[in-house]
Amino acid sequence: MRQLVAPRLATIDIHHRLLANVHPPVTKKAFFRKLAARFRHYERMAPKLRRFNPRPAGFGHLLEKVHGVYDSDANEAKEFRDAIRRCGFDRCPYCGRTRPPSQIDHFLPRSVFPEFSFFSVNLVPSCPDCNRVKDKDIWNQAGVRLFLHPYYDRFLGLPFVHLKIVPERTEIFYVPLFEFVFDAPNMSSNDRDTCDSHFDKLGIRRDLERHFASLLRAEHRRVERSIAVAGYKYSDLDDKHRIDEENFTREFGPNCWEAIFARGIYSNQSLMTFLLTQPASRGGAITR
Ligand SMILES: [Zn+2]
Repeated sequence: MRQLVAPRLATIDIHHRLLANVHPPVTKKAFFRKLAARFRHYERMAPKLRRFNPRPAGFGHLLEKVHGVYDSDANEAKEFRDAIRRCGFDRCPYCGRTRPPSQIDHFLPRSVFPEFSFFSVNLVPSCPDCNRVKDKDIWNQAGVRLFLHPYYDRFLGLPFVHLKIVPERTEIFYVPLFEFVFDAPNMSSNDRDTCDSHFDKLGIRRDLERHFASLLRAEHRRVERSIAVAGYKYSDLDDKHRIDEENFTREFGPNCWEAIFARGIYSNQSLMTFLLTQPASRGGAITR
């Protein structure tokens, strides 16, 4: 869950050059004009990326050629794909898992939108899991987008994922619940629905819950050891997680898993009190 800067590549020029080398070559000016109009439409719609008009008639079989050049071995096609990979980081922008984004996902799938097969802002460096799970359904029936778009959803650059660690009973967090609240300035209710669906469909919610349960157990033990050794106190715990958030945000963005966890700790006074006052080992430690 990270914002990426959209690659600005001379997409139409590259299409011209690649399609001039297929057999038979595609050179019709009207075709390229239609393609350019389609790209402008995508860019205009993209901040919201609601379901948009089907492509106009007249593309015909030429779209198969566009679909085909994406996989081409031509140098220009390879350089294009490399440029897309370079705009990513070392974590997948969709899920934030630590595996590298070794593949390229077509945000609007090639099978449904072949005209965007080779359109730079439709191509996102992605981990194999997200690439596989993201399928043809990009909108629900109400027209709400089901996945976050790393180039266009601006709130991805702000801390928009907030972790609420809920005690199983008053002030007791041995078996807490993990809830996620999506909030940032100017987020709409549609944006929140998109976040919900993105988290569920890509399995992020389930993986984060497991990951945070284990991090919290480890943190409880660390706090207990620190108290025994150096009289660790509330302000030390608060400082640690604020500094953690800052450092991880600098390196991996404000919604990397570590930053979300750190915010979830320092914003929860009763949890911090629990960590500082209850034994970590009681009842065999926190279990889930
Ligand atoms: Zn991923």
